[in-house]
Amino acid sequence: MESEKTILLWFRKDLRIQDNSAFAQAIEMGYSIVPVFILDEDAEGQWKPGGASKVFLHEAIASLEKDLAALGLALVVRKGSSDKILEELLKETAAAGVFWNRRYEPRIIRRDSEIKKRLKEAGKVVESFNSSLLWEPWEVATQQGKPFQVFTPFWKNAGSRSMREPVQVDLENLLIPKSSPRSDSLESMGLLPELDWGEKLLARWEVSEEAAHKKASDFLSGPVSAYDTDRDFPGIDGTSSLSAYLHWGLIGPRQVWSLAVRKEQAHTQGGKTFLSEIGWREFAYHVLYHFPQTPERPLRDKYAEFPWEVSVDSQKKWESGETGYPIVDAGMRQLYSEGWMHNRVRMIVASFLVKHLLQPWNAGAKWFWDCLVDADLASNTLGWQWSGGCGADAAPYFRVFNPMTQGKKFDPEGLYVKKYVPELKHLSKSYIHEPWEAPDDELEKAGVELGETYPFPMIEHKEGRERALAAFELVKG
Ligand code: FAD
Repeated sequence: MESEKTILLWFRKDLRIQDNSAFAQAIEMGYSIVPVFILDEDAEGQWKPGGASKVFLHEAIASLEKDLAALGLALVVRKGSSDKILEELLKETAAAGVFWNRRYEPRIIRRDSEIKKRLKEAGKVVESFNSSLLWEPWEVATQQGKPFQVFTPFWKNAGSRSMREPVQVDLENLLIPKSSPRSDSLESMGLLPELDWGEKLLARWEVSEEAAHKKASDFLSGPVSAYDTDRDFPGIDGTSSLSAYLHWGLIGPRQVWSLAVRKEQAHTQGGKTFLSEIGWREFAYHVLYHFPQTPERPLRDKYAEFPWEVSVDSQKKWESGETGYPIVDAGMRQLYSEGWMHNRVRMIVASFLVKHLLQPWNAGAKWFWDCLVDADLASNTLGWQWSGGCGADAAPYFRVFNPMTQGKKFDPEGLYVKKYVPELKHLSKSYIHEPWEAPDDELEKAGVELGETYPFPMIEHKEGRERALAAFELVKG
């Protein structure tokens, strides 16, 4: 079908066809659709996609391109200033305007508002929609109309609202434009690294809208029933692994929620806990929206003066998984090889960096940003400020995770450590989380030579803990 009335459908963090509000509305209003993706790294400032995110994004665009082509639509991919490219495309297509789904990062809100204003002044139709959150950040508020800073009341308030169903996209009535503007090739976007690291990373991820649905459906058909307990054990595949798909919008939270309801999991113990994690994602966006300074500055002001002891050497050892603490090293190596890390271990490695090593939480957040396929400004900031004790609903700074105790409790057989720190794989479970305590003959039998095949701990636990607490005393006020 062809239509004279055309709209640009600007894809961003909503790389899917189903439950896509902007797409649904464009069809309902009788527009023929020119789908567009713009890689505009400058607009993201210091939070442009990191290495792992780019690899995931490359695959997500390729998959979207294929899915749209099957519907008869050619995705236009371009690189550069969104503002400029949208204007060019509006001229080239004589489209009536632009539809998009909202993003919530502070710089992007500013950029989008400016684009909207300018295009409206030029007489264009511009509409934005919600496709990435259950509730808009401004819809949930305390009785005094203020934003929440603690998760439990936020979730009680948000969860008492009616749940929105996924949006139906009426593809039967999709209108195809007469011609398509020129597109750059996806390869020319430069999203894939030269190293074979990208290929290794992708061995863990099948990136498509269909794969996201399968993942959600498989998880909600089985593992969710044990989620309440299994989710803390990194050696068990007990969580959904949906974070990157949610971040890039290959699936939306409305879809996940509705699937949980259909699979009768919304009220089971596992299902409720799982959905409350989707709630943490909502909370992260709520906090980012209302406290836009937090990616750079602590929510609790006094922590801006925290006496960090910045050390490139300490940071590097942590990044490369050479701290001498097996659970920390396993986490950091999983991060680098898979672009993802288990949540329990994210908390352990983050605590180790900011407390034992006294390195700034932002430095950890930056490394995560570059390595995670799910790097998300809202959730990453919340997670790091939680770990640093300086954010919304944060762990108190004086709660210093003990890496040995955490390891023994949550990886009792050492399965996780053995997978990612193979040089320790022959150590017995009694010593896997503290190899320096193993007798010499045990080390020898396991082929471990401390200081040679695996490092000694870079700081003794007690010393690190006491140093962290002393530093905390200086700011606690
Ligand atoms: P599941 O346990 O299956 O949870 C389902 C979904 O809920 C996740 O996919 C995610 O979208 C959401 N979710 C779960 N836990 C959290 C949480 N604590 N905060 C916000 N949303 C949550 N998550 C990111 O998506 N991107 C990040 O950049 C990120 N950085 C983090 C940094 C630190 C220091 C910490 C402690 C946590 C961070 N998290 C981040 C949160 C969490 O670790 C991941 O969302 C989770 O591990 C993803 O695995 P999953 O999809 O199997 O989660």
